[in-house]
Amino acid sequence: MIKENIKTVEEKIEAACQSCGRSADEVKLIAVSKTKPVSMLKEAYEYGCRDFGENKVQELVDKYEQLPKDIRWHMIGHLQRNKVKYIVDKVYLIHSVDSLRLAEEINKEAAKKGIKVSILIEVNVANEETKFGTSCEEVYQLVSEIAKLPNVLIKGLMTIAPYVENPEENKQYFEKLRQIYVDIAHKNVDNVCMEELSMGMTGDYETAVTQGATYVRVGTGIFGERSYSV
Ligand SMILES: *Cc1c(COP(=O)(O)O)cnc(C)c1O
Repeated sequence: MIKENIKTVEEKIEAACQSCGRSADEVKLIAVSKTKPVSMLKEAYEYGCRDFGENKVQELVDKYEQLPKDIRWHMIGHLQRNKVKYIVDKVYLIHSVDSLRLAEEINKEAAKKGIKVSILIEVNVANEETKFGTSCEEVYQLVSEIAKLPNVLIKGLMTIAPYVENPEENKQYFEKLRQIYVDIAHKNVDNVCMEELSMGMTGDYETAVTQGATYVRVGTGIFGERSYSV
């Protein structure tokens, strides 16, 4: 079931790419495996999936220890500063950096381990009160401050769009994030490379692809509905 689901998602990404003249290899699929058991991740892994997204530190570490080491782990959830030390050498990319203090903590822990950690800046494009992320007005200031930290590499931007019935409603937010991304790229800030745009989930990833996403984060569409009752 999982393998068929991934194949379907891949086909839809390809079709969305074709519809807007992009090449399908510009878009990478992250299988968002939060709350799902290791057995399901193994099935996705066997299919060929190497990018997995988790939103809880403990769960990421547990799964990291049980699964092959060629997996690229993406931290996509809100990250508390006191937990940074547990994942800094296990994650491939942290998508959810939205403050200088958090970036400073990542920088500090990365320096201790002698590594550089790649991050994305999370932007709350739709200005939703319930969501984390910096505002569109503040993102450039934040990027220029974080850029000074030697053990952190800014690779791009991420957003979580509102929950909507019709994905087309989120087109404006994806477009806006892409605009900010292009603006920052043009400023050529040292230590900042704008190469990744993480946007689009099960309900709206095709729309996000047409607006320039390089990473889409799909959970339900691959692993089925989540149950949080446990
Ligand atoms: C859970 C989650 C996803 C995946 O959501 P689905 O709607 O199940 O595809 C994507 N991004 C983030 C940040 C998430 O927390």
